[in-house]
Amino acid sequence: MRKRTILFIIIILMLPFWGGCSDQRSELQEEAKNGLLNLGQDNLKNDVISLDGEWKFYWNQLLEPGELEQGSMNSYVNFPSSWTKYSTADEKISGYGYATYGLSFISAENEILALKIPKVRTAYKLWVNDDLIASAGEVGQTRDTMVPQYLPQVTSFQARQGENEIVMQISNFYRPSGGLLNSIQLGDEAQLLGLRYNGIAYELFLFGALMMMGIYHLALFFFRRKDPAPLFFGLFCILVAVRTLLIGETFFFTLFPGFDFETAYKIQTLTYYLGVPLILMFFRAILPEYFHPRIIRLTQFMAGAYLVVVLFTPTWVYSVINPLYQIWSLLMICYLFTRLVKITRHRKKDSWLIILGGLALILTCIMDIITLSGWINESWPTLLKIIFQGDNNSSTGQLIFAIAYSFLLAKNFSESMEYKTSMGEKLTEMNNQLDQLVVQRTEALTASNEKVAQQNLELERINQDLQRISLKDPLTGLWNRRKYNETIPLEWLRCLRHEQPMALQFIDVDYFKNYNDQYGHMAGDECLIRISETLKTSLPRSTDMAVRYGGEEFIVFLADTRKEEAMNIAQMLLKSIEALAIPHKGSLVKDCVTVSIGVSCMTPDVNTTYEDLVNVADKALYHAKSDGRNQVKYLEA
Ligand code: GH3
Ligand code: MG
Ligand code: MG
Repeated sequence: MRKRTILFIIIILMLPFWGGCSDQRSELQEEAKNGLLNLGQDNLKNDVISLDGEWKFYWNQLLEPGELEQGSMNSYVNFPSSWTKYSTADEKISGYGYATYGLSFISAENEILALKIPKVRTAYKLWVNDDLIASAGEVGQTRDTMVPQYLPQVTSFQARQGENEIVMQISNFYRPSGGLLNSIQLGDEAQLLGLRYNGIAYELFLFGALMMMGIYHLALFFFRRKDPAPLFFGLFCILVAVRTLLIGETFFFTLFPGFDFETAYKIQTLTYYLGVPLILMFFRAILPEYFHPRIIRLTQFMAGAYLVVVLFTPTWVYSVINPLYQIWSLLMICYLFTRLVKITRHRKKDSWLIILGGLALILTCIMDIITLSGWINESWPTLLKIIFQGDNNSSTGQLIFAIAYSFLLAKNFSESMEYKTSMGEKLTEMNNQLDQLVVQRTEALTASNEKVAQQNLELERINQDLQRISLKDPLTGLWNRRKYNETIPLEWLRCLRHEQPMALQFIDVDYFKNYNDQYGHMAGDECLIRISETLKTSLPRSTDMAVRYGGEEFIVFLADTRKEEAMNIAQMLLKSIEALAIPHKGSLVKDCVTVSIGVSCMTPDVNTTYEDLVNVADKALYHAKSDGRNQVKYLEA
């Protein structure tokens, strides 16, 4: 990763030098002295030189070849430079006016040479010897008689052996400063054309690259309005792209030769004025904590004010106030720089990309502002003059910045894709786990539901058993006292409702104490069980009910049964038990087990209760006992 990063930085830092190639020049050449440039013995076939140095200068005179001798030359001036840097004997030269320049050079032989003429502020005519070989716009002595035009070009001419004379008329009433800011180059036509084509190619490359990035970022914003950073960035890219065509080789005017000079100038100025707030707004959008909103608003206000001035006043007005904006934008660049330093110190994640791009932009903007401000003069060291000679460095800076930012965006994008993918995988995994869990839980739930249902069944069965057990006598399996207490009042009421008679038999085993004593308690239990079996099997009707009342006493009650029937049943029971022939030596009535039975019968009415019936039966039993046992006794209620 580290190696790749370093490579990336190196490639980015090399870009401006590639762009700068078009402006290369030979540093070791002679400079013109007193309007004469001696090229020495070398011919220029394979060389390119700049016609820099002292040119003859005639202010406010438009002279043609052959007229220079009659003109009154002001002085030798340093070329190239804005003429506002020159002065005549009695006045400082203003930006507006017209002048003639002259230079002689000595050629070693007759040969075809060419001149590469940069854009001239703002119209010119150029002769070599007596031939008019290049012009742009219309030179004139007033604003109305001249027509401004930027038209960088390469033009060839026949140089003769010995002295050749270059005469150049320039007039300017449209830009704050007149003259030439860049060198005129002399040399082989093919080489000079190559330089121009390289320059155009590089600027078109910048234009295309910045346009594409601009449109791409606008599209990003279109699909994701939440984040305004791509909007500001895209607009800034497009501004710089448009500006790239208007400066440097000014290819825009090659495309549209008739385009209005002032309008083009206004557009170019606006790209600069609007660029300042846009770039700061962009920075604030991506790193809000580092940029003060008031400063951003101030830059917006300044740009807004200058925008109004540019749109609604003639060009000379804002040409005058432009230096103020240049100072303002330098201040803002310093502000941006301090912010970048702060960000560097905080080492925010991936901020080095933005810092790198920002620095490239800052440096190149400073270069352009200084170049265009015209602050450079002769006293500056040569190195600085070389650095501050192009006016399209900021486009290169912006391209570096755009590449750095796109790199950051791409990194963020791929990281968020990576995150999305891993989150998706995690989600799928979690979903799968959840599915499994749901299946497991469902199975567990079904199992436990089944278990609960089973347990419920079991419980119900146990409950039923319990209920049955609680109502049954454990030894004999007959109904017990509890069941008897529950049932007899209901049966009583039923018989009351249906006006049916109800009979009750009280059965007691005779001399049972003696039986226990004789045969033991276990045998006594066995005997009770056998008697109970006999009672159960001998009562066929479902409404007949035999109850173990306590000890060796039983009650049988018979619903809807009259006295006779009850007596018959009692006799039948007595006989059946006797017929069991259970030996009973302790009995004083028989040698087998017998019972005594007291019977009573009543038809229930509102004045009687079942207790009356029981009491009467109890009394009848008492009679049966006292009358000798092993018999049935009836008592009327
Ligand atoms: P009677 O003819 O006057 O009824 O004489 P009895 O001996 O049967 O009467 P008593 O009421 O004096 O004695 C009842 C005996 O029944 C006393 C007790 O030992 C016996 N007994 C009561 N419940 C049980 C039982 O569940 N199992 C056994 N083995 N004996 C019982
Ligand atoms: Mg008894
Ligand atoms: Mg008894």
